[in-house]
This record gives sequence, C-alpha cells and structure tokens, in this order.
Amino acid sequence: MERATLLRAISSSSSPSVLVSARFFSRSTHRLSRLPRRHRLILNAGRSSLFRRHIGLVSAASRPSLHLKKHFSNFSVQSVATSNPQSAPEALGADDSVAEKLGFEKVSEEFIEECKSRAVLYKHKKTGAEIMSVSNEDENKVFGIVFRTPPKDSTGIPHILEHSVLCGSRKYPLKEPFVELLKGSLHTFLNAFTYPDRTCYPVASTNTKDFYNLVDVYLDAVFFPKCVNDIKTFQQEGWHYELNDPSEDITYKGVVFNEMKGVYSQPDSILGRASQQALFPDNAYGVDSGGDPEVIPKLTFEEFKEFHRKYYHPSNARIWFYGDDDPTERLRILSEYLDMFEANSAPEESKIDSQKLFSEPIRVVEKYPATEAVDSKKKHMVCLNWLLSETPLDLETELAVGFLDHLMMGTPASPLRKILLESGLGEAIVGGGVQDELLQPQFSIGLKGVSEDDIQKVEELIMSTLKKLADEGFDSDAVEASMNTIEFSLRENNTGSFPRGLALMLRSVGKWIYDMDPFEPLKYQEPLKALKARIANEGSKAVFAPLIEKFILNNRHLATIEMQPDPDKASRDEAIEKKNLENVKASMTPEDLAELARATHELKLKQETPDPPEALKCVPCLSLQDIPKKPMHIPTEVGDINGIKVLKHDLFTNDVLYAEVVFNMSSLKQELLPLVPLFCQSLLEMGTKDMDFVQLNQLIGRKTGGISVYPFTSSVRGKKDPCSHIIVRGKAMSERSEDLFNLVNCVLQDVQLTDQKRFRQFVSQSKARMENRLRGSGHGIAAARMDAKLNIAGWISEQMGGLSYLEFLRSLEKRVDEDWPEISASLEEIRKTLISKSDCLINLTADGKNLENSEKHISNFLDMLPNTSPVASIPLSARLSPVNEAIVVPTQVNYVGKAANLFDTGYKLKGSAYVISKYLNNTWLWDRVRVSGGAYGGFCDFDTHSGVFSYLSYRDPNLLKTLDVYDGTNNFLKELEMDDDALTKAIIGTIGDVDAYQLPDAKGYSSLLRYLLGVTEEERRVRREEILSTRLNDFKEFADFIEAVKDKGVVVVVASPDDVDAANKLRPNFFEVKKAL
Ligand SMILES: [Zn+2]
Repeated sequence: MERATLLRAISSSSSPSVLVSARFFSRSTHRLSRLPRRHRLILNAGRSSLFRRHIGLVSAASRPSLHLKKHFSNFSVQSVATSNPQSAPEALGADDSVAEKLGFEKVSEEFIEECKSRAVLYKHKKTGAEIMSVSNEDENKVFGIVFRTPPKDSTGIPHILEHSVLCGSRKYPLKEPFVELLKGSLHTFLNAFTYPDRTCYPVASTNTKDFYNLVDVYLDAVFFPKCVNDIKTFQQEGWHYELNDPSEDITYKGVVFNEMKGVYSQPDSILGRASQQALFPDNAYGVDSGGDPEVIPKLTFEEFKEFHRKYYHPSNARIWFYGDDDPTERLRILSEYLDMFEANSAPEESKIDSQKLFSEPIRVVEKYPATEAVDSKKKHMVCLNWLLSETPLDLETELAVGFLDHLMMGTPASPLRKILLESGLGEAIVGGGVQDELLQPQFSIGLKGVSEDDIQKVEELIMSTLKKLADEGFDSDAVEASMNTIEFSLRENNTGSFPRGLALMLRSVGKWIYDMDPFEPLKYQEPLKALKARIANEGSKAVFAPLIEKFILNNRHLATIEMQPDPDKASRDEAIEKKNLENVKASMTPEDLAELARATHELKLKQETPDPPEALKCVPCLSLQDIPKKPMHIPTEVGDINGIKVLKHDLFTNDVLYAEVVFNMSSLKQELLPLVPLFCQSLLEMGTKDMDFVQLNQLIGRKTGGISVYPFTSSVRGKKDPCSHIIVRGKAMSERSEDLFNLVNCVLQDVQLTDQKRFRQFVSQSKARMENRLRGSGHGIAAARMDAKLNIAGWISEQMGGLSYLEFLRSLEKRVDEDWPEISASLEEIRKTLISKSDCLINLTADGKNLENSEKHISNFLDMLPNTSPVASIPLSARLSPVNEAIVVPTQVNYVGKAANLFDTGYKLKGSAYVISKYLNNTWLWDRVRVSGGAYGGFCDFDTHSGVFSYLSYRDPNLLKTLDVYDGTNNFLKELEMDDDALTKAIIGTIGDVDAYQLPDAKGYSSLLRYLLGVTEEERRVRREEILSTRLNDFKEFADFIEAVKDKGVVVVVASPDDVDAANKLRPNFFEVKKAL
C-alpha cells in the first residue's frame, strides 16, 4: 500500500505513511534508480506504525543515495546537536510576560529529556491557535503549520488547496513563491503534505535569516493565498477542460488530476485506498482527500474557496517551532499574522468522528488495471485489515502494540512475515502491519502475487499464524533482538534525510491534531522502561498474547480486500472519461467552444509568462555575503591497518561507531552482475553451519544497530573504467565494535549460500518489487535504461536494478528450480571473487577515542579475510543499443526521458553546470512540463561523473509534447535574460544543495564516496568558486553543449500502450516498443 511511497522516496524512513501526497516531487529521487535493490526508501512501502518506521532502518539496508550532496543520515545517540553538546549554551523559553504582551497564554511547559529540549505549549488568546515552541541546540530549525482538513467527498479539495496556496499570496504576489524558495533559499526541507484528515506545511533551514524568510512566505501563503480569488490557479493545480482548438477533443488537465491518475494506476495504492475506505465507511477516512480522478472534475471553485475560508484559519491551526533560534522572535512573527483574525467555529466542524466498530467482518473485491500477462492468474492480492479500537490507545498500549508489530513483522526473520513468504502462496507482503497515524489504529497484512485459488489459503494462514503466536508466544532471543533494535534506534534517533525537528513534529501532531497532549508522543523513556519491566516480570507471552487476542483474533472489525487483475480496466476507464468529455463538448454551443479555446489559450499564456522582476524581488533572499566561501570540511585521515587502507573521520557520534567495508567488484564476470543484489540479500538472510538465518538475524539485532550490504556503481570522471564496489555498512555502540566486526565477518564468510527455498523467495520478492517500480517510478527505470545506453557504469547498474534486471529475474525464477546447484555455485563464485583483503577499504566514523579502540578489532577482522590475489579485471564495454525505446505498462500517465553524454561533445565540467541544471528545473522545466503540461514533475539531471545530462518527467499526461519541451531547452537558455537578483538567487539555491545539512555518519559516508570517485578537496574548492562566480554567459555557453541532447539524445519512455501507438503513428518507427508488464 504505497500511499507514502512518493514522500518516502523523497525523504526518509520518518515520513508519514498515511500521507496522501506531497506537493513537490524532488528530482533527486530518480537517482535512486542507480541503486539497485533494497533501497528502503522505495521498497519498504506500506502503512506501518510510526514506531516501526522510526526503527525501520535496522531491518532494511540504510542505503544512502548516490548523490553526494544528499544527506542520508543518522542522528547521534541522545544528541540534538551534531557537535559536542557540552560546548553549547543552554536553550531557554520565551519570557512569559513578553508572550502575554504578544497575545499568547502559556498552557504548559516541559523539559523533554529524550530530545534534550525545552517545549512550551502556547495558546493564542484571540483565535485559539496552538503553538508548540521547542528550543534546543539543533541548528536545523523547523517550522510547520498544520490544519485539520477532513474531506466530505473524494473531489480532492484538501489536496488541491495544498497545491494552490503556495501559488502566490498577498505579500508575495508571484505565480509561485514556493518555486522562488526552491530556487534561492538554503532550506534543508521545503514541501507540503496532505493527509486523510490534515494538511501540513513544513520548512527547515540552518540559517536563521533564511529560516524566518521561509516562515513568513509560508504563513502568508496559508492565510492569504491568491488562489481563493483566482480561478486560474484552481484550474491549473486542480482540474480544467483543455481545448486548444474547437475542432479538437476536449481533455482534462490539472496537476493534481494527473498526479492522482498516476496514483490510481498503481495496484498497491488502489489496495491502500480500498483498505482505508472499507475500514472507515462512516467518517472522513471513507473518502479520498487526495482526490479520485473520476470525482475531481465535480469540484467547483465555490466549494474550494469555502473550504479554505473555514479551515485555513488560526482557530483550526497547530503551529510548531523547533531549533536553536530565539523563542520570543517566533511569537513575534506569529502574532503579526494571528492577530488579524477573530476566532471561528472550525475547531468544532473539523473534528474527526470516530468509526464505530463493526459487528461483522466485511469483504470487498476491487479490480486493478493489468495487461494480459502470461501468468495473470498469479496476480491477485489479498489483504486483511483490522480497526483495532474505537478510541485512541493509551501510550503504553500503543508502545506495546508497536513492539508486537516489530516482533511479528519487523525483520525478514519475524514469524508472520517469514511464514507468509515461505508459504509460497504469494510473491510479496502487502499491508504494513500497525498504522497509528490516524485517529484510530489499524493493522493490515496480506500477500500479492497470489493465484485466485489460493486466496482463501492466504487468509487461513494469516489467521492460524496469529493464533499460533497468541498461543505459543515469542522466542526470548527474538524479544531481546527487538528490544535492542528499538532501543538503539530510539536513542540514535535516525530521521533519515528528514530534519529531526520535523520527525518530532509529525510524531507530536499525530496526537495533538486530535486534541490530545502534544508532549506525550515525544517521551518514550518511561513507557519503554515500564514495558521492559513487564516483559521481565510477566514474560513476553503474558504481555503480547492478550493484545493479539483482543485487537485481532476477537475483533470483528475486519475488512478483507481482494484485488483482481483486470486487463480491460485501463481502457474502460479511459473510454468512460472520453465519453464524459464528448458529452461535455456536445452540450456546448460553438460560442462556448470558442470561449473555452480562448480560456485555454489564456491560461497557457499566463502560465508561460514569467513573473516581472519587481514581483520577484518581494521574495526575501539572502545575499552572497551570507554564504561561506569555503566548502564544508570533513575531517579525514587516511591510514592503514595491517596494510589495508583505512579512512577515519573523527566526529562526535556520542559513542556510536559507524563502519563501512568496501570490496572491489571490477573483476567480477559480467554475466554474474545481475546476481549481485540477490547475493547481498543472501549474505544477510541465509544461515551459517551453526545458526539458521533467524538466529543470525536475531544475533545482529541483539548486538548491533544493523548491517546492510549493497552494490555501488558510478562513473569516474576522466577515467574509462567505472567505480564498482560492494559496500558492507554497519553500526553499533562503540563498546560492541568487536561484536560488530565479528558479525560482519560471519555474514561475509560463514553464511552458506545453499538455501534454495529462501533464494526462490528473494527472487519472487525482487520481481514483485521491480514490477511495482515500473508502474510507480517509471522515471527511474527510464533513467537507468538511458544510462545503460550511454555508459558502462550505467550498464552495470541497469543489470542490477533496471528493466534488464527484471527480465533476468523472470528467467531466474524458472532456473531456481531447474539449475539450483549451478546458481548456488555462482553465488559462491561471487563471494570468492569479491571478498578479499586485497583491494579492500575500510571507512570509520566516530570520535577519536572510539576510533582508536576499534583498531584491534579491525585488525582481527582483516586477519580473518582471505587473501586471494586479484584477478586481472576484465575490461567491460557492454552497452544497451542506443535506440529510442518505449516500455509499455498499463498506466494512465507516462514517464518521459531523454539523455546524452555532454563530455563526449567536449564539455569540460564547471561549477556553473550545477547552477544551470537547478535553474532549468525550477524555471523552464517546471513551467512547461508541470505547470502548463500538467505533469506532476519534470526535471533534468547532470551526472557530473559520467557526463550524462538527462531530462525526465513524472506522471506526465503527455509524451511527444514533453520531448518538444526538452528540445526547446537550449533556445530557452540562449534567449535567457536574467538580472543580478535572479542570478544570485540561483547561486544561493545551488549552494544550499551543495552544503546540505548532514549528520556525522553521513559526513563520513560522503567522504568515503568522494574518495572512491576521486573527488579531491582541491576540486571541491574550485567547483565552489565556479558556482559562486557563475555568470549569465555561462548559461549561454552551456546551451551549445546541451544542444547535443536535442540532436543526438536517446529517448526512453515508460508509457501507456495508447500513447505509444499514437506517438509511433505521428513519428513512424520512432520507438522500439517493449512490453514490460
Ligand atoms: Zn500533490
């Protein structure tokens, strides 16, 4: 149930799972395509409890993105600041009398030990707005404003409003101030989310001046947006009829309309929606706040305005401030806005009714669009969903339920997950276990890739397994492993690329929004201690069995969703839409049609006319003086232990040791590459001579903070050979570093690669995952495909994570039964080739004392590694044929890509390229592909290592039209006019990316990647100077080089069969067609 996939892809493990949508699709996402398999950001999709997501890192690989600039980090244990907290001043709250004067009443105040923060809850006396002001030493400051916005129907009002309010406001009367902020601020987070019952606007920055600029733009946007007086914004972001010429057919356009069409093309999200709506037939969750594409066109501008007037009001707002800035200043900024309003009745009207529990279970059968694939029989899905309670759970029960969820489903060794997958009844798990972000908690579990005859068997197996767990309880090692995992993660407080203050805010708002205590969700130490004591005293069975019985086995509020593949659904839906539009046209007079064509033209013109420079000036921007001249320094010492190269980063990590062991993959035989991702999974998920995989998994859980293994491949600038490695990543409390290295050694050397049954599961899971990616992240598949046509590193990655990989998995599925000994021998051969002391590299991040203490364990670890002499690496020259390809899938929206290698045309990398790509994303491509084209996203990406410059679109209603936009880029640049302000903004925004906020382990990891890719400190210094001194002329020069993409670029699209047919009719034989699903 991938409701949160998008945001998760953008950000991190901490993103909310019930999220319906995020406003902005980040271009960095497609980079994940280069990271084959198991990127948890993509795969660990599904609804799951905040609690388990919080600790999710450990069970899956914590895989950073290839982009060096992205932060992908973990927080240090019990620490807010990334520097040693002793040296920082003590955080204070605002003075109470000052708060009074500003119109606020202090409701309560607490020091929260878990995040070392002083938190004060205020109420704005005049309007009733509530404010949580959290002060601490974290420089990554966060602001958020949240409104309760329960929908009454599926027209998507909350979602369309979320998009629209950021399109200009009273003080910032531009087309999109949001985009100006994306262009020119140092934000560490900027987005907006719609939930089933609330809408949330968060921003973050480490620069105080920048932070307050962001806050002001957001406050003005939500309270005084232009969109309520301007139907054109509603049409652009929501929906409208488009008619370019009265003789043509009318079509629907709109950013949200297309975004939701994409969502409704994905079986997993259809299942998620069906589950939620079946569980909550009587309250706001029974409709879709994101919008159902069939219902969205029923929404009127009047209803839209009224929704804003009522709910986007201080009386209905919850506001969050977090970080090391002045708490008085926060209240001062707020009072200016809040004082302009009188209290309204929204708090009553926006209350979420609770769903009464059913007396009998229900069953829903849904169809999803599929093609007539060979094995369409094994394409059913079944998911069991329980609504656990009529009222919210108390914190201790919630924690216990979260713990139970982790025990049953948290790792591959967890019994419910393991038994379902081992049954062979389906390919992959659906339903993410406990979901506790809405008013009432739910539990969901099921399988996909099930044959119709087996549906009942799946249901029975789920029930019998749950019953068995209630009767027999859990293994004590499993309980200890879960406990350690949970404690480690809570203390480490890993928030992925989310600012930590934002993760805390989402946790707090999860209760606060229902008028409960906003402090309580931030405090876990006491309830965790109590739970631990209960388990110790009463035994785990006494704690967990009653929960399974009460909430699941004896709970009649069960909604079973069965999903059936329907080869005709996509064309049927399209036919209905077409018919509706024909009726609309038939009902119009020639004058109406002429008027519509005129309005269409007018809207386009408005969208394509840039804001005047005077208007742009009103968005506050930093100046170049605010920017540090030097690149951020990461302490790196290159030494050796027993002759092996070791990189050490002396950084404060509060006693956690982060370690990477890197092995060279370049001598691996080409035909073994597609097996590498499965090899990595096998290392972590098969057993040794003495331990089965469950025991090994539990041991890792008991002793460490997690271990992951994955391949890493990239081009290296100026070199023919790519950089291609296997990276083993692990972390543990420093005093357990011996255990950590012993376990890494055990994983690498002792695991027996002989478990056929488990391997067969890995193959079907990976296949299901790749098929899901093809529909949901087609841009990633297209990008990987283009890379594979243009360079060797891209080819290697595509073998391990692109369409070629999916094709390989399909043939492998048969071979596992026929040729297992041969496959097992190949896995062993991969191990022999890769795991060797020669050409191995170690990267360590911790503070000096802990680095020193770990040395002897590393030395022992290295002594145990085999010392096979390096095989001469086989020069690879493989590429995919450079033809234009259309990968056909059953979808209602397309992903369109075009790329070429700029280094091949003689381009020499300059820092200005970063500024230019970012500028193109936020201007030309945003305006044409998203705003007027109606796609959810359109962007370019320049891989500065390979030289590949690519354009990509995301959930795009167009195909050839988008290619025309791409081809117009060089003209756009050539004719570009830009004043100094706009240029400065572009430069500052780029620096914001380059200097992205990083936590200590992420710093250490970035430094490792730079080392592997040969990026020196000197180069970074030069690049930064080039960025800072970018001139308009650089844009014009760059235009000449990217002309190569227009003239020689290769095109890959993931698209619907109809659109591909139409394109090939218009341009005969333009695409070679590949049917993929
Ligand atoms: Zn959206």
